[in-house]
Amino acid sequence: MFQFHLDHTDTSSSARCGRWETPHGVVETPAFMPVGTRGSVKGVWPHQLAETGAQMILANTYHLTLRPGEKVVQELGGLHEFMGWNGPILTDSGGFQVFSLGALRQLDDDRVVFKSHIDGSILDLTPARAMQIQEDLGADCIMCLDECPPHDAPVSKLEEAVARTTRWAQICRETHKRADQALFGIVQGGIHPQLRERSAEGLLKLDFPGYAVGGLSVGESPEEMYRTLDFTTPMLPKEKPRYLMGVGRPIDIIEGVLRGIDLFDCVMPTRNARNATAFTSHGTVKMRNLKYQTDREPLDSECDCSTCQQFSRGFLRHLFTVGEMLGPMLLSVHNLRFYQRVVTELRSAIKSNSAQEFRREHLARMRDGP
Ligand SMILES: [Zn+2]
Repeated sequence: MFQFHLDHTDTSSSARCGRWETPHGVVETPAFMPVGTRGSVKGVWPHQLAETGAQMILANTYHLTLRPGEKVVQELGGLHEFMGWNGPILTDSGGFQVFSLGALRQLDDDRVVFKSHIDGSILDLTPARAMQIQEDLGADCIMCLDECPPHDAPVSKLEEAVARTTRWAQICRETHKRADQALFGIVQGGIHPQLRERSAEGLLKLDFPGYAVGGLSVGESPEEMYRTLDFTTPMLPKEKPRYLMGVGRPIDIIEGVLRGIDLFDCVMPTRNARNATAFTSHGTVKMRNLKYQTDREPLDSECDCSTCQQFSRGFLRHLFTVGEMLGPMLLSVHNLRFYQRVVTELRSAIKSNSAQEFRREHLARMRDGP
């Protein structure tokens, strides 16, 4: 049900392109997954998402279990029907938000107990509970419960997190029952090669159908992240999909692909859109800028999205200036299309063994500026 076919590996890097079969369709990799935090990619219709080229999307377990609750989603037909998205969906374990948003009450070898950031209610999250929630939500790809410590945590804390993540992964593996869901293990270990190795070894023994790299993009520098990927990605099996969680800027995605990552997700295209920041073929631009007031040109003349086909920079600027909701909606479609163009072009570049060249050209264009 979850065949991963590796079509080609770039001769100039570790970049690879493939096809991942899921119960809700095939995902061509490398792929970027837009984030529907609470069951909605903010301001964007599902059909528009598909038009941007999105193949698979992500929803957050932590948010959905607090509201409306996984049983409500299940009663409404599961995530696909609930969200109106019939393509593949991935849910995270909730671990990342527990550690970043929830008021932590208790963390031991069995569970993490936290107070909801919404109404102060207590949620007791065990690995088995994380599996039950994600089985009820019903995504195609789900994640083991992991502990994601902050990047500046002392090594002893990172060691504890690796041990706990490995132990929890084993329980998740034993508890998870749905054959129509692929359960991924998450490699932790901060930016330390030995810890990443220990984490990967423990998870590989459990033979997951895919592996995620967690604990990055949590405050370390881009160079530290790339270096960590340099030694972590080769530890993961070639024949299985590899997912870099929560990353990132377009250049981070390119650097991740060059190091052999297949799947990415990030809130950046939609979050930046809501802040009037657009990704373009020649760098990022702030749409509120006065210089766009009477600009009749499309936002990005190289972009084929519905926003760029129909609207001028002057109109977009106007929408943001007066606070019209159409502004963030139109810019979200454009930014999501920009990310999809990056991964689509990367797939072509890999097939012609020119992924490194693609990276160089991308950096040169960004340097030129808009
Ligand atoms: Zn566009």
